[in-house]
Amino acid sequence: MIRRIDLRGAAGDPAAPVDYREAVPRADFDVEAAVPAVHAICEEVRTRGLDAIRDFSERFDGCVVDDIRVAPETIRQALEQLDPDILAGLEESIRRLRATCAAELEHDVVTDLGPGARVTHRKVPVDRVGLYVPGGLAPLVSSVLMNVVPAQTAGVRSIALASPPQRDFGGLPHPTILAACALLGIDEVYAVGGAQAIAMFAYGVGPCRRVDLVTGPGNIYVVTAKRLLKGQVGIDSEAGPTEIAILADDTADPAYVAADLISQAEHDPLAASVLVTTSEELAAAVDVELDKQVFATRHTERIRTSLGGQQSGIVLVDDLEQGLDVVNAYAAEHLEIHTEDAAAWAARVRNAGAVFVGPHAPVSLGDYCAGSNHVLPSAGCACHSSGLSVRAFTKSVHVIDYSREGLAEVADHVVTLAEAEDLPGHGAAIRVRFDS
Ligand code: NAD
Repeated sequence: MIRRIDLRGAAGDPAAPVDYREAVPRADFDVEAAVPAVHAICEEVRTRGLDAIRDFSERFDGCVVDDIRVAPETIRQALEQLDPDILAGLEESIRRLRATCAAELEHDVVTDLGPGARVTHRKVPVDRVGLYVPGGLAPLVSSVLMNVVPAQTAGVRSIALASPPQRDFGGLPHPTILAACALLGIDEVYAVGGAQAIAMFAYGVGPCRRVDLVTGPGNIYVVTAKRLLKGQVGIDSEAGPTEIAILADDTADPAYVAADLISQAEHDPLAASVLVTTSEELAAAVDVELDKQVFATRHTERIRTSLGGQQSGIVLVDDLEQGLDVVNAYAAEHLEIHTEDAAAWAARVRNAGAVFVGPHAPVSLGDYCAGSNHVLPSAGCACHSSGLSVRAFTKSVHVIDYSREGLAEVADHVVTLAEAEDLPGHGAAIRVRFDS
């Protein structure tokens, strides 16, 4: 079901290192190929507004949506009708997320550089944000919490949320998603999905005022729209189809490893599940477990496609040092470590959206209730981007507060540097303050 890639011996000559980024499995997640179609969607939304959104909802979601903004009363009712067990799960998840978010909150940094010379690095929340919650293949209610809680903790004043309209629910977002919005006090919700939702946020359409920042995960259309509209609007990371990599040695439990590979394959036929291991015995046992466990899942076909695709595989390595090089090169959205002394190996990981340490911290825990955020950079973006956090909703402003005395202390240096750049007007702006 899942292919093998043998990198044993590939470390070879240290003078000519192998490029593991090329050697590891990767999804055929071609944002460039999606650009023409997504660019056309964004342009239609920009020029035709609500009419374009309605057309795309009909074409891609199979729904006729007259009023894209969900009535606040409908959102409240969804919470009243929510299953109490789901409510309890959401409340626990919110409690843990709020605790980690509160600890992440950054405060102003004040630096005194001498008498009358102070610079403050002031932290300011973004004014208005648009949060995307996926709802194509699965209604990701957990993504409501992962977006909203850090935004609220950061102090964002205006929060709008969009999720695809559902045919089975009269063109509204999934009721559990609406209930989670009510639970968190979010009443500006739009029944709009895909690239058209990101364009709606970026340009402002109909009842939705333009936002300053768009965050949240999604499929290739959502990710491509975020890339195209970046600049027009701020974005978090490119959080696309999910990935799990597992670094394991012969101490790993094959049943756990297989279950965790399956759990992410369940998201999307494009999801990637990669095991990097030093143990041929573990690889063989995981193969057996996959056959056994996939058979018993609800989304068997989706999982088979994902595990059997070019993006998934079992990678054999000589030792954990080579394994660490491979997972750092892969830069997985989620990385699990199932080895002896897992915490020590985890401490040496540089590139991953989130690292899950040892056999009792599966990615499913992080998807819902760890207290960490599940909106994470995918497709190798973890080598330069971070997962969603309070920081993503905060910007900083330098405040420069100098007195005449403070300015006098550096005036000559400023004039000299301005002359060196052939910008004498800069120097003159200093001198004028002291000439008299
Ligand atoms: P989605 O809400 O992202 O996408 C559904 C929308 O796609 C639809 O509303 C429709 O408008 C649009 N669409 C569908 N077909 C289209 C087409 N042919 N042309 C243009 N637009 C089209 O939901 P999804 O599809 O279930 O994808 C969710 C993704 O989010 C999954 O891949 C999942 O793995 C990923 N995810 C990622 C993270 C992360 O942090 N990286 C977290 C959670 C989920």
